[in-house]
Amino acid sequence: MGARPGAPGEGWDSSPPGGADAVPAVAPRRAVGQNARMAGSRGAADRLVGLLLFLPVPVVLWLFTRAPLGVGPSLALGVALMLTHRLYARTWALARADRRCLWCGAAAGDGAHRVEVVEPQDRTAWRACSARHADRLRRTLGWIARHRLPVLAGIGGAILLLALGGPLAARGWLGPVSFEDLSHTFRALVALTVLPLALIGPFSRDPGPEPPRLPFPVHIQSLIGTSAVMWLFRVVGAIWLAQGLVYWIGKTAGGR
Ligand SMILES: [Zn+2]
Repeated sequence: MGARPGAPGEGWDSSPPGGADAVPAVAPRRAVGQNARMAGSRGAADRLVGLLLFLPVPVVLWLFTRAPLGVGPSLALGVALMLTHRLYARTWALARADRRCLWCGAAAGDGAHRVEVVEPQDRTAWRACSARHADRLRRTLGWIARHRLPVLAGIGGAILLLALGGPLAARGWLGPVSFEDLSHTFRALVALTVLPLALIGPFSRDPGPEPPRLPFPVHIQSLIGTSAVMWLFRVVGAIWLAQGLVYWIGKTAGGR
């Protein structure tokens, strides 16, 4: 079934057991306790800041799909947020790649489980907190690497379709195709891409090539953890697909 768990941590038992040199045995233990507490509070702070840095992602999706400011301004603001997000979020994520688990977002402990990836512009190294999370991560990233082109076409194509077609449709330059049509097509394309990824990827049998070559950078998923992103994909993907079905069935039945 699952991968054999890796060797458990060796612990921090570096001091000699008992013996005449008993004095230093207390200090390292206290220092370890302090280190663990510091790592714990740092891990919690990382989680909170990571969540805040992730918030532009749903805001961009809301701007893209709902166009609350009107089509042109909403899409322009969404694209601007998307392009600038990398500047601060990637810097922050890479600075913590060594100490956070890329699967769950928790502290990566001694960093024994290293996961290398080839991103579009960089080759980077991340960590997992346990052998189990490293395994899930490798299977998910391996699935994405094996389906690089469909994933790239599904997400990239959806963004291009809406960013380029949205303003034209809003002006009535695409004939019967409305912005609403494009918004639902965008959602359906994204859903049909991320649902198989999140439903199959983490459980695929083959971890794939090492290091996986990915179509998109991984710093976004590192902000809240890949596992949380998979859950978002499953929930939002299912909702968007259902919304699309209701919309197109209603539209067809209404004869509009
Ligand atoms: Zn983990």
